[in-house]
Amino acid sequence: MAIGSSLRTGKVLVARDTRTSGLMIENALVSGLQACGVNVHCLGVLPTPALAYLTRRLGANAGVMITASHNPPQYNGIKVFDGDGMAYGEEEQNQIESLVRLRNFQLAEWHSLGEVQELDEGSHYIEMVLENVKLDKGWRVVVDSGCGATGQIAPSIFKGLGCKVTALNAQPDGFFPGRSPEPNAENLKFLAETVKALNADMGVAFDGDGDRAAFIDENGVFMDFDRVLAAYAAYALEKSQAKNGVVVTNVEASMCVERMVEQAGGRVFRTKVGDVYVARAVKELGAVFGGEPCGAWIHPQIHYCPDGILSAALLLKALEDEGKRLSEFISNVPTFPVLRKNIPCRNEVKHDAVGVLDKRLKASFPKHVGVSTVDGVRLALENGWVLVRASGTEPLIRLTVEGESLKAAEEIMEKATGVVAEVLEDFGN
Ligand code: MG
Repeated sequence: MAIGSSLRTGKVLVARDTRTSGLMIENALVSGLQACGVNVHCLGVLPTPALAYLTRRLGANAGVMITASHNPPQYNGIKVFDGDGMAYGEEEQNQIESLVRLRNFQLAEWHSLGEVQELDEGSHYIEMVLENVKLDKGWRVVVDSGCGATGQIAPSIFKGLGCKVTALNAQPDGFFPGRSPEPNAENLKFLAETVKALNADMGVAFDGDGDRAAFIDENGVFMDFDRVLAAYAAYALEKSQAKNGVVVTNVEASMCVERMVEQAGGRVFRTKVGDVYVARAVKELGAVFGGEPCGAWIHPQIHYCPDGILSAALLLKALEDEGKRLSEFISNVPTFPVLRKNIPCRNEVKHDAVGVLDKRLKASFPKHVGVSTVDGVRLALENGWVLVRASGTEPLIRLTVEGESLKAAEEIMEKATGVVAEVLEDFGN
């Protein structure tokens, strides 16, 4: 009703991933939209990027995706996109939430209730990928949908691209019996073994709603998220031929992204963690490419929603352009050691403590080369960087350090830990 009240009229697309609660939530959501006089097109199970793309393509006023992304099966959530296919940012989300809190709903009269149609529009998304990516080589690809929203559509797209496809966990199942919806190295061991056993060129796995992709190389090795992001960012820059092109990533990504992007003549802009922040910065800066090291990549030449299927197709295209195999594609990306530490800190003081940390950290690292406070405090140093953030959900302060060498990383971590401990003492923690 809050979304419906903010729109008052027009058309909203609704899609969902495969979670057991998806249809239940969809029924309630559709009912609320109708009650406010908004027409609804229900698209059934589709990946989030397909819903976002179709929202713009079909001229809808908004698109609503029912998904909890990579989170465990018992979770669910609602993600809203505007008519441009751009995810609602903080401001728009707050508006909707305040309508919910105030119960300030604009209900329609009986004669102007919204109408509902069930439509199968996934083919437009399939066409979009096939129009934008042309592959010459018949790549052998193993596609692991994890029983999520890409199970039907991803294998058919890769077949359409001329690939020889083996599909794993392609059956929709809200219990996610094949693997967890989060595509990380731990959860993709079976995919890695399958790639190796079948002598395939690539393994690709998606999260529950298909906006993230993780890759397995031709040797059955899980591809480091940061390094493949850095390699693809450099390729995208070179391909675009943009002068001083911008690549957007978040504050947590490895500095190998800067190395590769700057080598390719571009520059890196870093945002808060969260694909919505990356997407907005990509649009505002006219960036060539944007991505987070969880496998959420944004291809602005097509749309602003992270898109796992499109990412995998474009990565194969990059391999063709460069005449490389996957392992070769990232072989010249440096690996830097990353250290992480959690320091317990009461919820009441964690944000205030991080708020004063930038001054103290700057004083302790006088040779820093850059400071960012978009998300916690991030200090760029000559031989690495340190990021200090308050946990969003737990009574913790999180420290992340990356160094040119393990020794450098350890030294930065030791110093930063000391600074955080001093500040916490001042706060009586
Ligand atoms: Mg997701």
